[in-house]
This record gives sequence, structure tokens and C-alpha cells, in this order.
Amino acid sequence: MGEAGATALLVGVGPELEWLTGYAAHGNERLNLLVIPAAAEPVYISPRLEAPAALAAAGLADGRVRIEAWEETDDPFLHVPSHLPPQAPLRLLVSDGLRAAFVLGLQAVLPGASWGLASSVLGPLRRVKDGDEIALLRAAAHAADRAMERIVRGPLVGRTEVAVARDVRDTLVDEGHDTAEFAIVASGPNSASPHHEPSDRVIGPGEPLLLDIGGRRAGYSSDITRTVWIEAEAGRGPEAAFRTIYELTAAGQAAARAAVRPGVAFEALDAAAREVIAAGGFGERFIHRLGHGIGLEVHEEPYAVAGNSEPAVAGNTFSCEPGIYLEGRYGVRIEDIVLCTEDGGESLNEAPRELRVVSGR
Ligand code: ZN
Ligand code: ZN
Repeated sequence: MGEAGATALLVGVGPELEWLTGYAAHGNERLNLLVIPAAAEPVYISPRLEAPAALAAAGLADGRVRIEAWEETDDPFLHVPSHLPPQAPLRLLVSDGLRAAFVLGLQAVLPGASWGLASSVLGPLRRVKDGDEIALLRAAAHAADRAMERIVRGPLVGRTEVAVARDVRDTLVDEGHDTAEFAIVASGPNSASPHHEPSDRVIGPGEPLLLDIGGRRAGYSSDITRTVWIEAEAGRGPEAAFRTIYELTAAGQAAARAAVRPGVAFEALDAAAREVIAAGGFGERFIHRLGHGIGLEVHEEPYAVAGNSEPAVAGNTFSCEPGIYLEGRYGVRIEDIVLCTEDGGESLNEAPRELRVVSGR
């Protein structure tokens, strides 16, 4: 905070609050705000009716953060200035997801302050996972691996994407997630749309099925993608064109994972996959970045994308998920969550990556 010139961090409900205090509060129209002054004790400003819930959180229960409750008829913003140093100038950094209504309310009672984002301070801390966080991410990844295995075993053929997506959500929870967060089920030509919403399309034989699924376990996220081929008849594999884009995607993904080590720029990881896919003639069809950081959020810093020269450090966790998309025909994506260790990259997901031909029955 000193380096950032920050007077205080103002952290609302969201992943930053959960990371700092363990309090996974529900965001609503009532102001919840953790005020962390650079030169004074932190205070948590809570609606009176939510103060017991706040006090139950590990990081707020030990007395190091004082809880200040505001009454239902108070103006909650008036509780904030007294915790900040009276002399100007104030430099206040708000959590990235703080509601616009709260930011405007704070600005009204703190005229003259300058404003920035708390992620400039918290981001570099949050993106380096400690041993406990890695263990939670690994457990979530393994739960997603098991859910994926159960889903690809079927039944798939003759069912709608929506019906299979419902199965995915149940299975994610069944295999150890607290909540299912997303279930992309994209069959046939729908697999060419990277963020396809499951539809009423009926899954058929002789076509690919792309599954991008994830949930949360003890707060931490999983995220895995596999693309399988559903055989048209027993023992019949995919057409050659599909095999080509699958093998290229897999080779690009393996190249990116192999390039992970401390010091490598995130843009170089993206390039490692992209070079393989471009050399195979499909560079134009890899239409998104390689990946995103993952932790309490499914998508968080660091991003593996051209233009991000930030170096990886041990403890970073992020997705490697190249894809090739042939509009109107089909697409392939393969995604694992990778941990940067002192020695290189380690995939937290262990589900097989080779092309699988499944019966779907
Ligand atoms: Zn995904
Ligand atoms: Zn992802």
C-alpha cells in the first residue's frame, strides 16, 4: 500500500473480501465494506442484521478487525470517513467489483479523494497461491476430472444439451464441489462457438461433443474442457479433418504446458500454443487467449494473452485452453488448470487428453 501511495483499501463483498477474511458474504444493496487504512487498524462496516454472519467468518472472528454495525436507517457511507486520516490528500483503492452505487456514495462523502483499484495492491498477492490454496485447487480439479469421466461415459446420444448440462451440474456436486458454476455442453456445430449456451439441440452419433465444466469447492474453482467424438457406429472414429484439428489443439496445449516455468512471460505461453496451431494452418481459428488465472474466481489474473509480458512465478495457477473453431462445422478445445512450480508446469487436472471416441449410449 505504501508503494501504491494508498491511504486505504475499501473492499466490498467479493473475492477480495473472501481472500482477506474468509467471509463469503452475499452482495446486496446494503453496504458491507472492509476499510484497511495504511496507518491504522482495519474496520469492517456491516449492516446490523448481517453483523452476526460477519462475526462468524474466520478472519473477522479473531478480534483483529473491529466490526462496526450501521443501523437500518443510517446513511452507511457516513461511517467511512472517520476511519480515514483527516488530512488530505486521500488515495483510496476500491475492490474491482464494488458496486457503482457504493463508489458514488463514497465519493459523495469523501470529496477531493483520488480513486483507484485495490487490485493494484491485492492482485500481486492473490495471484501467488500458497500451499493451502493449491491443495484446494487440486481437490477441485480432481473432482472436475471425475465428473468429466462420468459424463463422457454417457448416455449422450438422443438427449438434449440442456439435459446433459443438468447432469453435469449434479455430477460436479456429487463428485465433491459445493456448487456447480458452469456447464458448457456443445454438440456438433455448436462446438465451434467457444462460449455456447446449452440448447435444445439433440446430441447425435458421428459428431463431437465439447464439455467445459466447473464448480467451487471450499471457495476455490475448477475449470476443465474436453472434446470427445461420439462414434456413428461401433468402433468408427472421427473423420480425418476432425482428427487433424484435435491433434493440433492437443499439441499446442502440450507445448504451452511444457513452456511453463518461473520467469516465462504469460504472452510466451500463449505464443507457444499459437505457433503450433498456426504452423498447422489453423492460427486464424484459435480465436481467444490461451488462458486465465484461477482461484477464488474462475477468471482472475494473470491472463495468458498476447501483450501480457508479466513473468510467471511459482504459485501461479491458470488455465491452458487453446481451441480451433470451424464455424458451422465443429470445434475443439482442451483445457487444464496448470500450476507453475519451481521446476516447471504441473497440471492439476489428470483426465486423459488423447482423442476419445465414446459410444454415447
Ligand atoms: Zn473452461
Ligand atoms: Zn477456462
